[in-house]
Amino acid sequence: MSEHVDLLAIAAHRDDVELTCGGTLAKAVTAGHRVGIIDLTQGEMGTRGDAATRAAEAERAAKTLGVTVRLNAGMRDAHLENNEASRKKLVGLIRELQPRVVILPFPVGRHPDHRIASELGRDACYLAGLAKYAPSEGSEAHRPYKLLYALAYREDPVKPTFVVDISEVFETKMQAIRCYSTQFDGAKAAGEIHPTGQDLYELIRVQSAHYGSLIRRRYGEPFYTPETQEVEDVLKLGVQSI
Ligand SMILES: [Zn+2]
Repeated sequence: MSEHVDLLAIAAHRDDVELTCGGTLAKAVTAGHRVGIIDLTQGEMGTRGDAATRAAEAERAAKTLGVTVRLNAGMRDAHLENNEASRKKLVGLIRELQPRVVILPFPVGRHPDHRIASELGRDACYLAGLAKYAPSEGSEAHRPYKLLYALAYREDPVKPTFVVDISEVFETKMQAIRCYSTQFDGAKAAGEIHPTGQDLYELIRVQSAHYGSLIRRRYGEPFYTPETQEVEDVLKLGVQSI
């Protein structure tokens, strides 16, 4: 019961969520929400650093962001599959955490694991709500209310449904990313970020500033939802048009 969270980010590799939605997670913590992370793999295929080092780095990054719980599903890095076994495993973890909102990777990605993680996460969120699917003692069926797809660094012809203003927590996001020093120090690319020759940390700052500019803020993180968002009062709409 004590492990329940309001917001949960699910991704393939340790460091994925810091890169795509770390600011949004830190901001939710600041707002008083309970936040969790599920990394599906242990990152054992990474060129730099072993799984044990990455585990310690992920733990430090979670503390930096202020998240309540960070679980690892122990699936095989670079061999991620959306199958009966992986769905069942993830359904169990989602039921344990009972999140209201779940952030998933965008369904298109450079790394095959990112695409699979998106599909697997979406399917598991649905199945977790079916009481007769893989029932287990002390585990309650639960379907998250809202799924958000993290759109950062993607160039697909998809406009963000919304951008979260992360200006206030941008340094926290960067600090969490810097926890993965074995991965990123001196790196020119990571995750969905293509190399441009610039330092990776600078590249993340520039991209975050671009997303921030879409909502006339300093730094932002973009998200996509297939469903249309509701507006209660058009007079409270933000982001100046002209
Ligand atoms: Zn990744």
